[in-house]
Formats: sequence, structure tokens, C-alpha cells
Amino acid sequence: MASKRGLSIKLVGYVAAGVMLTSTAIGIGRVHTEQSHLSELLRQSGQGIANTAAAGAASLVAGYDYGNLEILSNNVAQQAGVIHVAIRNASDRIVTQTEKQMDTPSRRFQAAIVFDNKNIGEVTVGLSTETEDKAIRALYLRILVEQIVFAGILGLILFVITSRGIVAPIHRVTETMEAATAKGAPYVAEALPVNSEDEIGRLIAVFNKLNRALADYYAQLQGKVQAADQALKDKNIELVARTEELEHTLELLGSMATTDWLTKLPNRRQFDETFDRLIGQAERFGEPLTLVLFDIDHFKQINDGHGHAAGDEVLHQIGNLAKDMVRKADLPARLGGDEFAVILYHTEEAQAEAFMRQLIDKIRSQPFHYNGSRIPVTISAGAAEYGGANTSPQALYFAADRALYSAKHQGRDRYALYSTLAKETT
Ligand code: GH3
Ligand code: MG
Repeated sequence: MASKRGLSIKLVGYVAAGVMLTSTAIGIGRVHTEQSHLSELLRQSGQGIANTAAAGAASLVAGYDYGNLEILSNNVAQQAGVIHVAIRNASDRIVTQTEKQMDTPSRRFQAAIVFDNKNIGEVTVGLSTETEDKAIRALYLRILVEQIVFAGILGLILFVITSRGIVAPIHRVTETMEAATAKGAPYVAEALPVNSEDEIGRLIAVFNKLNRALADYYAQLQGKVQAADQALKDKNIELVARTEELEHTLELLGSMATTDWLTKLPNRRQFDETFDRLIGQAERFGEPLTLVLFDIDHFKQINDGHGHAAGDEVLHQIGNLAKDMVRKADLPARLGGDEFAVILYHTEEAQAEAFMRQLIDKIRSQPFHYNGSRIPVTISAGAAEYGGANTSPQALYFAADRALYSAKHQGRDRYALYSTLAKETT
């Protein structure tokens, strides 16, 4: 799994590798320089000893003074680091030599023995390189330690610089974006600071630009969503209003199907339905029921004399009157034209007679007015009671109609009872 700090770790790796390479190269260079310097010092020292010995040995070799040559050789060998001294003559034969029994690596230095400008021999000095080797080892160690310290400090400085300059800004961008997405935000609210013009600065600037575009796009989208939402709400309100309107229309249609528009009384349809039901009820419970039919006398003349609107007004007022006069259990209805019906439930013919009389008297005495002129109105009525031959709705209606016809025939403005007619005919 990639670490969240992967970039820092990579950076540490790169810096460490770079610094180590640099430091190693510097170390190798330094070792080389210092080693050459040490070597040169050794050479100068060895060559110096050899030269001095050769100078001292010149007169002694010329004079064949081997005793002092040996002393000279021993003295030279006493000097620090010298492990071997050999003095040769012109024939290259060793005239004296001193050898220290030391098992150490050494370097040889030679110097010609010159006397009277003539080469009369040679001094060879063996100088131990042990000190030089020690110094070189110490040099290696010192340079190693110094380079490690140098690499550490350089690495730290480089790490801090790159970390601040590269990792920290990238980290900031990442953190800000992560914080925003953690909250579920579709974009970062604030623009990130651009502190440089390098690649990182450009990266942040481009990020800010894209982020701004995203925010704008999101705002636009939200605006559209809100507008769509509002449109939906408006449509919904409209729909509710239309539904209410429709329900109202349906209600109206329903009532229009069962109610007479002029008198607001039940119409023929509702009358027929209720009539059937009430007759069934009367039969079941053995309760009396009387049907009253009434019709306006010479209504045509009212229409003709006062106008159709006046006729409507008369129909309307007679409807109201009938409504006022009946009980809750009764059913007044306009059957069509100027013909009305009232089903008087729980009512015998005798009580219906009283009702008809009252109705006829009221209509006769009620002043009907239209456009300032009084309209005299009378009605004729007929009644038939349920029972006997009149047990079906049709039979009862026919019986009441016959009574009404009789009332009309007798001169109008009166009522007739089917039972009386029946008796007369039998
Ligand atoms: P009768 O005494 O024999 O009943 O005579 P009438 O003139 O009333 O005759 P009929 O009952 O047959 O005539 C009813 C008239 O009612 C015929 C028609 O022009 C009129 N009419 C029917 N419906 C309406 C209505 O809604 N308004 C008005 N103004 N007149 C109507
Ligand atoms: Mg009539």
C-alpha cells in the first residue's frame, strides 16, 4: 500500500542518495589529495636524509674511511623511520650498511655520492612507510567522519528546502481537497494561496482555476435545479387547483344529474330512485305513503303573458314553497316542465289532503311578482296512497296523475284524491 507520506519518503531517498554520491566523490577527491601530500612529505624527508647522508659520505668514500662510514651509516639509521642504510662505492659494491630488523613496509631513496664533481658512489636509505600508512588510515577515518557529518548536514538542509518548497505545498493542496471532499463538498470553498511561479505555483493556480469553474458550474446547476423545483411546485399548485376545479365540476355534474337546476329540487331521476326505495320501505315496514302530484294552472299563459323568465321565477318560488312545507322524511321534486311531486312518507291520504289544501291556498294567496307586475298563480294537485292496486311505483304514479287530471278537469285550483275517483268509477 502506498504510504500517505510517500512523496516525503521518496524525497528522503533521493536526497540521501544524491548527498551520499556527492559526499563519496568529495571524500575520494580529498583522500587522493591528502594521500599525495603525505607521500610527497615522505619523499622529501627520505630524499633529504639520503642527500644529507650522501653529502656526509663523500669525503669518507673518497678517503676509504670505512670506519667513519659505518658510524655515519649507524647515525643515519638512528633517525626516525630509517630502517635501512647502504653506502655503495663507484663499483656499486656495498662498503657499509645498517639494517634494522623491522618487518615494516618501506620506500627506498637514493642519493649519489659526489666528490670533486665525480660520482663516486651511492647512498640508499630505506624509510619505513608505517607512519605514513597510519596517517593515511587516520586520514581515511577523519575524512569518512567529516563526510558523514557533511552529508548529514547537507542532506538535512536539502531535505528542509525541498520539503518546504515541494512537499509542503503539495501536501497543503491535498489536505485542503481531502478536507473538502470529506465534508461532501463538490469543490474547495477558498482559493489556495499561490506562493511561487514555479511548477508547484502553476499547479495550484490551475487547480484554483478548475476549482472556480467547478464552483460556478455547480452554482449554475443548483440554480437550474431550484428553477426546476420551483417549476415543479408551480405545476403542482396548478395541478391541485385543476384537481379541485375538476372535483368541483364533477360534484356539479353529479348534482346536475340528480338536481333540477332552476328550483334546486331533486329531478325526475332522483325522484324515481327515491320513490322506488321509499315504496320498498313502506312495504317492508307496513307504513303509509302518499304521492302528491301538482301542476301549475295555465302556465303557458304566464310564459306568454309575462315572459319565459317570469315563468322561471314562478317555478323557482313554487319550488321553495314546497321545500318549506315538507318534513325531513318527505321528498319534494320537480318532475319536468311545471309538474311537481311530493312523496309524503308515513302519511295517509287524509293527511295528504290537508297538505294539498294548505299548498294550494298558499300559492293562490302568495303574491308572485315579476318586473313590478303581480302574477296570479294557482295549482292543481292529485294524491294517491300506497296500497291496494297501487303497490308499484308506476301504478301509484299513474293513480296520482289520474287524480291530478281530475282536479284539472274539475276546473283547476283544487285537488283530487285517487280513492274518491276510484269510488266514483266503481
Ligand atoms: P294546464 O293548466 O293544463 O297545466 O295548462 P298549462 O298551460 O300549464 O299546460 P302544460 O302544463 O301542459 O304546459 C306547461 C308549459 O310549461 C309548457 C312549457 O312551455 C312550459 N315550460 C316547461 N318547462 C319550463 C321552464 O323550465 N320554464 C318556463 N318558463 N316554462 C316552462
Ligand atoms: Mg300546467
